[in-house]
Amino acid sequence: MTVRGLTFISALGAVLLGNVAAMAAESVVNAVRKPANATESLPQATDVRVGGDDKQTRFVVDLSQKINLAAFTLADPYRVVIDLPQITFKLSAKAGEQARGLVKAFRYGLIMQGGSRIVLDTKGPVRIDKVFALDAADGQPARLVLDLTPIDRASFLSTISLENRSPRSSSAKPSEAAPQAAADPRPLIVLDPGHGGIDNGTKAASGEMEKDVVLQFAVTLRDKLERSGKYRVAMTRSDDTFIPLAERVRFARAHGGALFVSIHADAIPRREGQAEGATIYTLSEHASDAEAARLAEAENKADVIAGVDLTAEPGDVANILVDLAQRETKTYSTQFARALVGELKATARLHKNPMKAGGFKVLTAPDVPSVLIELGYMSTKDDLKLLTSPAWQAKTAAALSQAVDTFFTPRLAGAGRGSN
Ligand SMILES: [Zn+2]
Repeated sequence: MTVRGLTFISALGAVLLGNVAAMAAESVVNAVRKPANATESLPQATDVRVGGDDKQTRFVVDLSQKINLAAFTLADPYRVVIDLPQITFKLSAKAGEQARGLVKAFRYGLIMQGGSRIVLDTKGPVRIDKVFALDAADGQPARLVLDLTPIDRASFLSTISLENRSPRSSSAKPSEAAPQAAADPRPLIVLDPGHGGIDNGTKAASGEMEKDVVLQFAVTLRDKLERSGKYRVAMTRSDDTFIPLAERVRFARAHGGALFVSIHADAIPRREGQAEGATIYTLSEHASDAEAARLAEAENKADVIAGVDLTAEPGDVANILVDLAQRETKTYSTQFARALVGELKATARLHKNPMKAGGFKVLTAPDVPSVLIELGYMSTKDDLKLLTSPAWQAKTAAALSQAVDTFFTPRLAGAGRGSN
């Protein structure tokens, strides 16, 4: 893919989907990039405190050394985002869950290679009064200090438009390189492990996180597909990095994906009882049932969690569906979903209604057949045992790989992909 081609498709994606990923990329601080594997040499965040009240709230992070930072605000929902060079967070497991003053909650983590982020949810519109980093002095560690005061919504929104005018880094996030397409006619399967970095996804009571489980499974599936020799495989992420939803879609389109498989693991609150087994989702404006609606909403929150600006996004699946309806993409997506259910029936646990639909943003590529698979429930003990078992992962990856074969065989035997 030439640079020009990528730029063109990116622009097309931005028009179709809203410039969400670009907004995220823009907000990344111009900090010195460090390779992620050098984590032992990274600056550390060792403690965090929130003080004050609804009139003025101070947020302080203790650091092992002074670092560069950039802070800005986002609307709908109200958030404050602090971008930092990559740091290691050594904070207590409950850090971020306590509300105090203007801060409802906060979270932190990797937003991309070389960059970490802290996202604060605020009770209402706020102004960043001060934000600065201090060197260690007088027996105190280096610190990051953020002061917030409440303001009205109109002033808040005008601050945001000013912030957006100032140039942050405008370079788009370089996606992971896909295998070279030019001379290789094999179909490209894009695997999309959900969540990552600052966004953990769902969490088991025993601490396992969706982002880790789905990455592990995606790697197993990638290896299985590659070993068959029939497909090229690219992954939207192959490490613990956050990727905005629109960037995942753009990645699949820019690399000419023939099939897009988003991989997740669900969880339901204990009070809602038990659920088990895998479910396959395709895109639809109207959710097939209440559970599908809940799930689509939860999965679409990934960008909010990571501090991506959603106001630039149309937020409406309907327009994309009009476009989709004119293409074979939707039919192909359903065909693949059926093949998946057929294969998984024999090898894995399936949910009692295994084929559903909902308004998942990650499934909105108009020209790449896309499904989202929820492998099972992190909240269900027996499912979790399977999800984290290498034997189950291998067996399920084999079933998925078989479904990919079922999906492509008629077309590969014919005149080529998409031509029949
Ligand atoms: Zn998920």
